[in-house]
Amino acid sequence: MRIRAAVVRKRSSPFAIEELELEEPRDDEVLVRIAAVGMCHTDLAMRHGQVPCPVVLGHEGAGIVERVGAQVTTASPGDHVVLTFDSCGACVTCLRGMPAYCENDLARNFAAARRDGSSSLRRGDEIVHSHFFGQSSFATYSVAAMRSVVKVRKDVPIEMLAALGCGLSTGAGAVLNSVDPRFRHSIAVFGAGSVGLSAIMAARLAGYTTIIAIDVRPNRLALACELGATHAIDSAAVDAVAEVRRITGRGADYTIEASGRPEGVRQAVDCLAITGVCGVIGGAPPGTEITLDVNPILFGRAVRGILRGDSIPDLFIPKLIDLYVSGRFTFDRLITFYPLEQINQAAADSLNGIAIKPVLRTGLR
Ligand SMILES: [Zn+2]
Ligand SMILES: [Zn+2]
Repeated sequence: MRIRAAVVRKRSSPFAIEELELEEPRDDEVLVRIAAVGMCHTDLAMRHGQVPCPVVLGHEGAGIVERVGAQVTTASPGDHVVLTFDSCGACVTCLRGMPAYCENDLARNFAAARRDGSSSLRRGDEIVHSHFFGQSSFATYSVAAMRSVVKVRKDVPIEMLAALGCGLSTGAGAVLNSVDPRFRHSIAVFGAGSVGLSAIMAARLAGYTTIIAIDVRPNRLALACELGATHAIDSAAVDAVAEVRRITGRGADYTIEASGRPEGVRQAVDCLAITGVCGVIGGAPPGTEITLDVNPILFGRAVRGILRGDSIPDLFIPKLIDLYVSGRFTFDRLITFYPLEQINQAAADSLNGIAIKPVLRTGLR
């Protein structure tokens, strides 16, 4: 079938809206009519080299199922679905209930191809790479991997849900899934973008009494306070470590590093209370190193990398939607909508901080 998609033609080039041919879904795939797709920093980072080109990126699709392959039992035509990362379901970490750490993650999510190397997309004789995060959803339609598809309730406008497939689950999950909040009172979140703000909303839900937002943008700090932060620190103006220690008295029980800066990790560890945990969820370029003082770590402190909020998407995404419907996870406050055709504007607004969470609408429902 003919579709419209945003194509990255070559490394670091802007997105180009093109007409492509999309194959029928195979036995383990789902054809989804995309209503909207979120933009995440991983899409923008991947433009600069780690996937083959030409490629269709996009890994936060949401839409309605058109057709399913013969093996697909988890979704049917007409179902509303949110698309998320792919996983194999059969490796040791998948079997242990941790699909976010699937041992076949690179092949499933970053190869931009099916496992046999084929693509579902072409333009004439030219192959265009597909299956980024099992979906390549910067497009009007996606042939998605079965395990990337999460069925959701139908009484919420589907274009609202496109933000949930990656970034917001990452932030909320790091609070709700990764670290037991029992006996933890205080949390400090470094970086008040869409991921950090989701963590702050989740921290209020989890019952943290002191919720500290740290960023250099005053408008983000103000929004953080509206969404649940009890304190805001402008780290361009004051020493964030000293300020977290002053506010908490004994250091923070849990810190989240969502800014992707190595010095942010150092600060997030240095302001931990005894037995505190630092969750590192912000990505950094390959080879980025951090330095830590060994001795404070001995006092039961931990540094933990967290991918995708430790989520099991089929359980966690519907839970976040239920929390949204009941007014307790107001992620709509983070979204700015754009038409798919304005994807380059959305990318620019994301990078310069104008938009917290761009969501691209295709015009299809
Ligand atoms: Zn796996
Ligand atoms: Zn993402």
